[in-house]
Amino acid sequence: MKRIAIIGAGISGLSAAFALEKQRRSIAPLEYVVFDSSSRLGGVLVTDHVNGCQIEAGPDSFLTEKPWASDLCREIGLGEQLLGSNDADRKTYILVKGKLVVIPDGLMFMVPTKILPTVFSPLFSLKTKLRMAREWFHPPRKADADETVASLVERHYGAEMVDRLADPLLSGVYGGDASQLSVRAVLPRFAEMEARHGSLGRAMLAAHKKMALAAKGSAKPLFTSLRGGMQQMVDALVSRLPESSFRPNTPVQAVQRQDSGQNCGWLVSAGYATDHFDAVIVAAPAQAAADMLGITSPELAAELRGIQYTSSVTVNLAYDGKVRSSLPPGFGFLVPHSEDKRMLAATFVHTKFPHRAPPDRALLRCFIGGARNEQVLQLPEEEIVSIVRQELRQILGLTADPLFARIYRWPRAMAQYGVGHLDRLQRIENLLNQLPGLTLAGNGYRGIGVPDCVRSGSEAANRALSALGLIAEKPQLAS
Ligand SMILES: Cc1cc2nc3c(=O)[nH]c(=O)nc-3n(C[C@H](O)[C@H](O)[C@H](O)COP(=O)(O)OP(=O)(O)OC[C@H]3O[C@@H](n4cnc5c(N)ncnc54)[C@H](O)[C@@H]3O)c2cc1C
Repeated sequence: MKRIAIIGAGISGLSAAFALEKQRRSIAPLEYVVFDSSSRLGGVLVTDHVNGCQIEAGPDSFLTEKPWASDLCREIGLGEQLLGSNDADRKTYILVKGKLVVIPDGLMFMVPTKILPTVFSPLFSLKTKLRMAREWFHPPRKADADETVASLVERHYGAEMVDRLADPLLSGVYGGDASQLSVRAVLPRFAEMEARHGSLGRAMLAAHKKMALAAKGSAKPLFTSLRGGMQQMVDALVSRLPESSFRPNTPVQAVQRQDSGQNCGWLVSAGYATDHFDAVIVAAPAQAAADMLGITSPELAAELRGIQYTSSVTVNLAYDGKVRSSLPPGFGFLVPHSEDKRMLAATFVHTKFPHRAPPDRALLRCFIGGARNEQVLQLPEEEIVSIVRQELRQILGLTADPLFARIYRWPRAMAQYGVGHLDRLQRIENLLNQLPGLTLAGNGYRGIGVPDCVRSGSEAANRALSALGLIAEKPQLAS
C-alpha cells in the first residue's frame, strides 16, 4: 500500500485528493491523508448566507475560458449548478479624477480592438488615444528578458494606460502591482503577441476574430460560478472523499526526506506526531511550504520564500432596494492607485450574479488591501467598514446605512508573480528533481485563479502517482 500526504485542503489540495481518490477507486493500492491547519476545509473558498444574500468571502467565480474548474464541477455532479455571470449587464467603471467612467466597448483587458468607442471614451486623454493609433504599427519585438507588466504596457500605450487600466485591473483582481508583476508569468499572451505581431491591438483583434468564428455566436459568459456559491465545490469534493482521510486542525511543521533503510520516503511532522509517506504533495501557500521544507532543502525553501504574497480584505455591504435603484448599472468599478483611495475595487453583486441578492436588496463587495496597503489587515472591523463607507460616499454618493456588513480577512493569500518568476519555477523544478516523491501545487506557481489551482492539484496528484509507479505519465513539476 502506497501512502501519499497532501498538505493544504484549499481547492488545490482538494483537487489533488480527488484525483488520487479516482485512482484509489480504480483499485490502485493507495491511501492518502489531507492535512490542514484550519478547522474548515476549502482554503479561501467560503460562502456565507446572510438575510437572503449569498456572500462570497473569497473568490466569487472563475474565468469561463479556463476549463479546469467547470470540468471538475461536472465530474463531481455540479454540472447543473454551474451559472454564468449576467453579461447582458456587464459594464465596468474606472474611477478617474473622482468620477466613474465606463470602460469602453471593445477594450480587451487593456487592448483596444474597436476604434469608435475608444476614440469617444473620456477614459483616456487625446495623447493616449494617439498612442493607441500609433501602437497599430508597433514592430515585432522579441524581449530577451522578463519585464514588468507596467513596462510592456507603457511601451505600447504610455503611462496613462498603466495608471488607468493595467494597474487597477491587476490590483482589483489580484491585489497586485503592475510595476512589480512579471509579464511573462501574468500575461504571457502579451509577451507572445508582441514578439509575433508587434502591435497588441492587431494581434488581439486577429485572435478575437478567430475565437468569434469558432464560437459561431454561442458566446460564453465571462465568469462562471455555482448557484449555491463557490463553497458548493468544496462541499461536493469533500463528500466524495473518505472522511477518514482528512486531518483538519493539523498544521504541518516539517516535511523531511527519509533516505535510509527500507523505509525510503517522507516524514511529515504535525504537532507531536510524525507519519511516514511514500510521496508528499505540498498544496499550502509557498511561504508555508518553505517553512516545512527548510530542513530537507534550504535551497528549495529559499526559492519558495522568494514568491511574494499579498493580503486583502473583502467587505460585503447589503442595502435596501432604494440604494439598488440608485447605483449605476454594471458589475462594479476599479480604483486606480493615483485616485488616492484605500479601496481597490467594488463589485455590484446583485447585477453580476442576480441570484445572490433578493430583488429588493443591493449587495456590494468591496476589496481593500493588496500590494500597497498590507497594513489594512490589522485594522479593527469598524474602522475597515468606516473607510469603505466613506469612500463609497465619495465615489457613489452612497450615504445610506448598510443593512449588514460582513468582513473577511485574507492574510498573504494572493501570490504575486514578480519579474523572473518563470526562471524561479525552473530552479524549483530542478531542485524537485533531486527530491523524488515531493510535488508542489497551489496558487504560488502557474496561475492564481481557481481553474489554475484545480489543474495544479490534479497535475500534482498525477506526478505523485507517477513517482510511485502507479501511473505512467509524468506531468510538469511545480504545477
Ligand atoms: C479575496 C480573494 C478573492 C479571489 N477571487 C478570485 C476569483 O474571483 N476568481 C478566481 O479564479 N480566483 C480568485 N481568487 C484566487 C483563488 O481563490 C486562490 O488563488 C485559490 O483559491 C487558492 O487555492 P489554494 O488551494 O492554492 O490555496 P488556499 O485556498 O490558500 O489553501 C491553502 C491551504 O493550506 C493550508 N495550510 C497553510 N499552511 C499549512 C500548514 N502548515 N499545514 C497544513 N495546512 C496548511 C491553509 O489552511 C489552506 O486551507 C481570490 C482569492 C482571494 C483571497
